[in-house]
Amino acid sequence: MCDHTIGYLDDELVQQSEVADKLKNEAAAYNRHSDNMRSAGLDYKKYKNNYRPKDFLDRRKGLMTMFNNCPYCGKEINWRDIKESI
Ligand SMILES: [Zn+2]
Repeated sequence: MCDHTIGYLDDELVQQSEVADKLKNEAAAYNRHSDNMRSAGLDYKKYKNNYRPKDFLDRRKGLMTMFNNCPYCGKEINWRDIKESI
């Protein structure tokens, strides 16, 4: 059975089984980066530090490349289910 490949994050392919963990780590990393930039005195408005894992699944924010179909088996990715699992 295929563990669907659902998109790209940081130039790495993401599989459905690992997306929740990856997005949790990614949101934490973005927030750490923003905190570092802000404490270095850089524009605090530019460096948001309230990213949540779900933000990466908002196509308008463009934080992750989200596939419509799994490139290996062709199945349509059910983003609604994925979002509910995050
Ligand atoms: Zn698949």
